Amino acid sequence: MLKIIPIPAFDDNYLWLLHNGQRALVVDPGDAAPVQRVLSELNLQLDTILVTHHHKDHIGGVDELRSTTDAKVYGPATEKIPKPYAALRQGDAAQALGLTFQVIDVPGHTAGHIAFYTPDVNGKPLLFCGDTLFSGGCGRLFEGTPAQMLASLDKLAVLPGNTVVCCTHEYTLSNLRFAMAVDTNNKDLADYQAQCMALRAQNKPTLPTSIAQELLINPFLRTRQDALMASARHFDAAAQDEISVFAAIRHWKNQFK
Ligand code: ZN
Ligand code: FE
Repeated sequence: MLKIIPIPAFDDNYLWLLHNGQRALVVDPGDAAPVQRVLSELNLQLDTILVTHHHKDHIGGVDELRSTTDAKVYGPATEKIPKPYAALRQGDAAQALGLTFQVIDVPGHTAGHIAFYTPDVNGKPLLFCGDTLFSGGCGRLFEGTPAQMLASLDKLAVLPGNTVVCCTHEYTLSNLRFAMAVDTNNKDLADYQAQCMALRAQNKPTLPTSIAQELLINPFLRTRQDALMASARHFDAAAQDEISVFAAIRHWKNQFK
């Protein structure tokens, strides 16, 4: 039996830790201290560090954790990640805790962003998607195009519905406020928002989510739905094809208050 723990860091990051009671892996450790605290509390040996992209809040603790634990680091081949690390791209795999993590290229938030997928953890698939997919949202397009991000999200959307999705930020409530504005008659969305508000009121994470849940409520996975296309065209009449509809919704989110 493996345990999945979101370690809170900074304002709203989660550093995901997976462990079997003895050995652990951590994803995107932007800060070493909170990870070290959990490792020593639970008496775990850190084996592996998985990195999805080069942003500081995802790599800031890599050097310190590597040097204090000898953990092996895996990260995207085409980004600047603290060396030494095993450079991975689509089709490659990382082995850790007896699991095989398949690498999926998901450019958009950054140009070389990767995600890690493994088909069976306690009976369900598991996805570490970094800043590509959030609950109710997606990452900002700092380095990629709308077409790239849409293609990346399409790759995640076809994973099994019960896939456990470990997103790296607690952005859910603000994402859902926007989702309610663009996807106005979505009952699942309204229900999910109420659920998430209750969780946050008790200071609990809204994550992990699942692919099936996101398909019901995440506007960035629903840009081909009539309601979303109509909203996008209301925001920008030039949004006609699927890429410009996606771009319009992303652009709208960026300025949404
Ligand atoms: Zn990022
Ligand atoms: Fe981030």
